[in-house]
Amino acid sequence: MTEDYIMENLIIIGSGPAAHTAAIYAGRAKLDPLVYEGMMAGGVAAGGQLTTTTEVENYPGFPCGIRGPELMVRMRDQSMRCGARIETQTVDNVDLGTGGSRPARTFKVFAGSESVETRSIIVATGATAKRMAIPGEEELWQKGISACAVCDGALPIFRDKVLVVIGGGDTAAEEALFLTKYASKVIILVRRDALRASKAMQERVLGNKKIEVRWNINALAAVGDKKLDAVKVKNNKTGKESTIEAGGLFYAIGRLPNTAFLNGQLALDDVGYIKTTPGTTKTSVEGVFAAGDVQDKICRQAVTAAGSGCMAALEAERYLSEPAK
Ligand code: FAD
Ligand code: NDP
Repeated sequence: MTEDYIMENLIIIGSGPAAHTAAIYAGRAKLDPLVYEGMMAGGVAAGGQLTTTTEVENYPGFPCGIRGPELMVRMRDQSMRCGARIETQTVDNVDLGTGGSRPARTFKVFAGSESVETRSIIVATGATAKRMAIPGEEELWQKGISACAVCDGALPIFRDKVLVVIGGGDTAAEEALFLTKYASKVIILVRRDALRASKAMQERVLGNKKIEVRWNINALAAVGDKKLDAVKVKNNKTGKESTIEAGGLFYAIGRLPNTAFLNGQLALDDVGYIKTTPGTTKTSVEGVFAAGDVQDKICRQAVTAAGSGCMAALEAERYLSEPAK
């Protein structure tokens, strides 16, 4: 064994609310956790998705709201204060081994030139909302364009406006229904002539008087100066172009869970989310836990990510203290 050999108790991969809540609990449990927070991993800065937003109004404890990046700096500070060590590196690869049981069972984590061995891992690498990459999107992102209606829909800029949702899946349906609480009207743009959403959601959408579904429509551009004013669209059957005046544009075209670095070593669902045993954060590999959006395609909220980060730390602690099999 070389001099710089390190055996960690727990490595946490990620830097959003799930990773930091896991780090806070694991630090306080004296597990001496090592966090790899990533360096623009999945195209998002360390701190995760909330670093890409402005005001967070639904995280408990902040009655006047808090800016997303500030909330994440606070979580990071709290992790360190509770004893977590943080490396600003992206995990490129892991070796989850092929068998054996605790305490002999260990895993390897590779980040840049580093390779670290650990007894347990929490994967909290989140997910990234897919974007359209249409003209105007970059300039107007978070100035009328969002990928999270539940997060942003209640903001004053969207009140009593025509709001456009792009997508035809369950997320688009759910977001459109949610937005009817605030909008004067919601228009869903569907790129083909059918919704992908479940039958129940389709019925709710199509039966809602505040929602209009436009079929075979592609968005061409987001238009506006300091905020979104309109969406340019094209009917892909007739080729006709038109402009929809709108105060908001919500993308609901799917998300990419950040699981590529696992190279198939954990069981994933058909879209790449980590499968966990229901009611737990346990993955298909004993000793490896998953928390936050990387294993949750339904709730996708900071507080649910934090809650599952807490569960993962408690389950990792229990796993590490179990008697050898
Ligand atoms: P994420 O926040 O997704 O963070 C995971 C991070 O881990 C990644 O971003 C990356 O930095 C890092 N990482 C990824 N891969 C690796 C790797 N291989 N190695 C090391 N690090 C890696 N929720 C709310 O509750 N309220 C809101 O107001 C709200 N607003 C939102 C606004 C926007 C624009 C978006 C996109 C989301 C919003 N959400 C909101 C949702 C919320 O941000 C997410 O549910 C939450 O951040 C998920 O947390 P997480 O810990 O699972 O991971
Ligand atoms: P989906 O992949 O199911 O749907 C994405 C939708 O966006 C599809 O209609 C797709 O069109 C459309 N789309 C994709 N790319 C583009 C593009 N570039 N331009 C225009 N439209 C585009 O993602 P969801 O996020 O809706 O759902 C993911 C999973 O989560 C599903 O399994 C869903 O059932 C589940 N879910 C369940 C919920 C619930 O049960 N309450 C709530 C939310 C999600 P096309 O159909 O043509 O491919």
